[in-house]
Amino acid sequence: MLSTMQDVPLTVTRILQHGSKIHGTSQVTTWTGEAEPHRRSFAEIGERAAQLAHALRDDLGVDGDERVATLMWNNAEHVEAYFAIPSMGAVLHTLNLRLPPEQLAWIVNHAADRVVLVNGSLLPLLAPLLPHLAPIEHVVISGPGDRSLLDGASVQVHEYEELLAGKPTTYAWPELDERQAAAMCYTSGTTGDPKGVVYSHRSIYLHSMQVNMAQSMGLTDQDTSLIVVPQFHVNAWGLPHGVFMTGVNMLMPDRFLQPAPLAEMIEREQPTHAAAVPTIWQGLLGELQQNPRDISCMKQVTIGGSACPPALMEAFDKLGATVCHAWGMTETSPLGTVARPPAHVVGTEEEMAYRLTQGRFPAGVEARLVGPGGEHLPWDGQSAGELEVRGPWIAGSYYGGAAGENFKPEDKFSEDGWLKTGDVGVISADGFLTLTDRAKDVIKSGGEWISSVELENALMSHPEVAEAAVVAVPDKKWGERPLATVVLKEGASTDFVQLKEFLATKIAKWQLPERWSIVEAVPKTSVGKFDKKVIRRQYADGDLDITELA
Ligand code: AMP
Repeated sequence: MLSTMQDVPLTVTRILQHGSKIHGTSQVTTWTGEAEPHRRSFAEIGERAAQLAHALRDDLGVDGDERVATLMWNNAEHVEAYFAIPSMGAVLHTLNLRLPPEQLAWIVNHAADRVVLVNGSLLPLLAPLLPHLAPIEHVVISGPGDRSLLDGASVQVHEYEELLAGKPTTYAWPELDERQAAAMCYTSGTTGDPKGVVYSHRSIYLHSMQVNMAQSMGLTDQDTSLIVVPQFHVNAWGLPHGVFMTGVNMLMPDRFLQPAPLAEMIEREQPTHAAAVPTIWQGLLGELQQNPRDISCMKQVTIGGSACPPALMEAFDKLGATVCHAWGMTETSPLGTVARPPAHVVGTEEEMAYRLTQGRFPAGVEARLVGPGGEHLPWDGQSAGELEVRGPWIAGSYYGGAAGENFKPEDKFSEDGWLKTGDVGVISADGFLTLTDRAKDVIKSGGEWISSVELENALMSHPEVAEAAVVAVPDKKWGERPLATVVLKEGASTDFVQLKEFLATKIAKWQLPERWSIVEAVPKTSVGKFDKKVIRRQYADGDLDITELA
């Protein structure tokens, strides 16, 4: 029999209405680089979202499930777009401003975006691209920037504030089907063409509830969250939607993502929470070593997107900011695991080991490990396989079915509908995931697997190493062997021999790299992760200065 409960659709609109009414005084603070940041209350965000929806519908003719693109930093206007576009029934399409121009053009054309909201500071990126963005008819600009860059462009150019001015501050939001598309985000496309993940109203609503659970981020209206992870990277890990539900104040860095302004923001605005990939925090640590500041206001620092190096976690702990490690993907909205240690180890020596895993699966994410022959592996902390997941906020397909010539759905989804993550790891009997590598980054040496992440973490725990990336390179005898590329800290005096000896105290001898290279910086992807594809190419092209140690 059916239940007797009301069937109220779980929509982004309801998050907007709830947050702007119940938490109307909470604030979105946007860094401006000037004496004072810009502040806007959740109530104002609600009113301006209504005005934006009117502008998009009445002035720009946005209708049905049209995609509306954003090329924006993290700021209040982007939050308004986050709520206005899905709530009116259209689809928010966040564009990754760090992608190579040809990929951005590919994505805009694939999604058929007719309208793009852009920050003025990003016009130098958009203007030369416009001739390649056939579907774009309207460009809506907010914030400072040189408008003349669009002179002569064959699109209609609008000022965001002018479009909103005088529009009604309420909107008759339509009642939407919760399974309808609300937002889309293309994966970074390190191999092949980017793939569009389309989030539903329901998936965003349920994911937001999970973001707010005490075992996930568990923030309240007493908190301020410094959202460094870009709004174009998996909806800033679901934070804007999640924290709007619970009235958590948002601190948005806009384009000021360099270590010095981030440190200043933290000192002046005293966020209690922050979220970003490890490279951002490595940069901040370097800055704090030069110019010490108190960052202990941050009771919780969510780190994800790449494995959190143990040395980074320890350094933050010492500064009084507790790191919480989490794993996820564009396809998983992204919350997949969170590394909160189980109660029985808190305060014991085991606690750190648990915090360094990728974490436990929250309710709503089912997981299994699959071996090379397709067999399901036990959760014994030993058996390594590919992680597969399923759940209500996990993608079951990509936009348009299959994108790109080389895309085979069976590579990403199992026959019974689970997402193949491409991540390799083990799961302990008590349900903690430890990833050892991306399937494509594992070093296959003479029939044994070497984890590039383990080598990197060990190297980055050396006091004179700023960053280290390890990749597999072809080897006549072993098939593949590790190559270590290392960025040394300023004034470092160590050398490869010493680094190898240091590694030998932590890693089995047969796993130690023979090939070494000092580099100025590790190449990064558009979302700040190590770009190992580029390192492998540099090696193949002979662009790296290699030292071989026996
Ligand atoms: P993206 O969709 O661009 O966010 O990339 C998702 C991928 O990032 C995952 O499949 C993992 O390979 C990697 N990743 C994310 N979080 C972590 C983490 N905490 N530890 C290790 N790898 C991670």
